[in-house]
Amino acid sequence: MLNLDLATDVLIVGAGPAGISLAINLGKRNIPCILLDQKNRSDVGYKPCGDALSPNSTRKLYELSGIQQPKGDEIGEDLESAHFKPVPDFELWIPFVSQTIDRLKYGQRLLDSLVDFPWIEFKPKHKVVETIIKSNKIVGCKVRTENGDKINIFAKIVADCSGVTGIVRRNIPDEVCDKFQKKLPKKEIIVSFREIIETPKPHEFQKQMRIETHDELPPPGYFWIFSRGERLLNIGVGWLINDSNRDYSPKKVLEELRNKFFPDVKVINADGDTLPGRLPLYSMVADGFITCGDAAALVNPISGEGHGPALLSGFYAAERIELALRHENYSEEELWDYNVKIWNIYGYDGGLGIAVHKLLNAVPFSDFSYLFEKEIISQSDVDAIMGSTSVKLPIFQKILKGMRKPKLLFKVARGLLIAEKIKKVSNKYPGTPEKFERWVKKIKRIERIHL
Ligand SMILES: Cc1cc2nc3c(=O)[nH]c(=O)nc-3n(C[C@H](O)[C@H](O)[C@H](O)COP(=O)(O)OP(=O)(O)OC[C@H]3O[C@@H](n4cnc5c(N)ncnc54)[C@H](O)[C@@H]3O)c2cc1C
Repeated sequence: MLNLDLATDVLIVGAGPAGISLAINLGKRNIPCILLDQKNRSDVGYKPCGDALSPNSTRKLYELSGIQQPKGDEIGEDLESAHFKPVPDFELWIPFVSQTIDRLKYGQRLLDSLVDFPWIEFKPKHKVVETIIKSNKIVGCKVRTENGDKINIFAKIVADCSGVTGIVRRNIPDEVCDKFQKKLPKKEIIVSFREIIETPKPHEFQKQMRIETHDELPPPGYFWIFSRGERLLNIGVGWLINDSNRDYSPKKVLEELRNKFFPDVKVINADGDTLPGRLPLYSMVADGFITCGDAAALVNPISGEGHGPALLSGFYAAERIELALRHENYSEEELWDYNVKIWNIYGYDGGLGIAVHKLLNAVPFSDFSYLFEKEIISQSDVDAIMGSTSVKLPIFQKILKGMRKPKLLFKVARGLLIAEKIKKVSNKYPGTPEKFERWVKKIKRIERIHL
């Protein structure tokens, strides 16, 4: 029988933002790769999403790698402010720069740009079904092609950019690497559903990003409204799964909220998916293996922002892979610096997110309402918070003075402490795998703290 197996330097699994960015950045370094995705070519880039992508991330990506920021009709709207409505009669407002983008158009443009690098081969409708291990190293993947053939693709390094499922990662046995979780448990997953809606006349949320809580949502759920144009909105709901909310359907909850707040709109697209809601994986590399984007759990657990981290992690992975190939060394040690970089950049955001989720799980919304209704937290406090870079927030003293709910104070304080501790430990990510076990014990101890 004809042998259809293939071999390359780097096999990139998944052509979402992480995989495409990695492919372009390896292309710029003249490194041969195979990039594959289970989707049709014309669907690459599409993903049910809030569509918000911070220009800070895409500007950084441009500065690092020359990839042009979203432009023209790839941009839905330039957003100028973020509004948080934690209780019905109170709203916090901050000047905030973001963009809603058309993910399909942006993703397609990035995919098309691979034409500049003939040493990168893109294979649509190719689905990875298994990870190939040899002598305790990751050496490739078993792939089902569009014709239904099952082939092996071998590579010096396999990059898992397959999103939340982490198809390569989850098939790596513990004997090969036990430094990261293979399948994420439900409590580390955010379920989410979103709709693109068209309003009959220009809506009232031009250039706005809104996050609200409502009684229809199971805690710690949130409802977002992001403007995508004069008469277009992206609305959605999401929550980190816990024992009390696991039976709620995000689709139904969103329909309820849409019927309540936007009864006369046309639904253009409705779709849902899951995303990781945890700290970055403790390690994102193994012998012959690296992982980026959602597969590495690089989503901000508070905002759900994962598009920017996915694009940027593709760049940082390419930097390390280039060195590994130059040194002809594809080991965990050689790739390790990627862990250090990613934890230094994203550990703090993750920590703050974990602390907020713990708070939302531990404290009923009614208690938070108290903070706002009694004006213990006001708009000017929020302005001050935005000028602060530390979690020792200016409002803290005020809460101390004004608080008549000592239990709530205690929980808020512990939440802030958790975030601060995770920040410190993230910045001390071990420089080599030897000190990893001790570091993980520290981070797990902090994660276990109850509020
Ligand atoms: C409802 C929702 C709303 C969101 N809102 C926002 C937002 O407003 N802003 C933001 O920044 N982020 C948001 N996110 C998160 C954001 O979508 C992700 O963080 C981002 O897409 C991650 O990029 P990625 O490349 O890692 O993974 P993905 O975008 O998931 O891409 C993974 C790719 O791998 C492919 N793949 C998967 N399995 C296989 C396989 N076995 N074989 C071959 N190919 C495979 C998939 O087809 C896909 O193309 C949201 C997510 C959801 C679900």
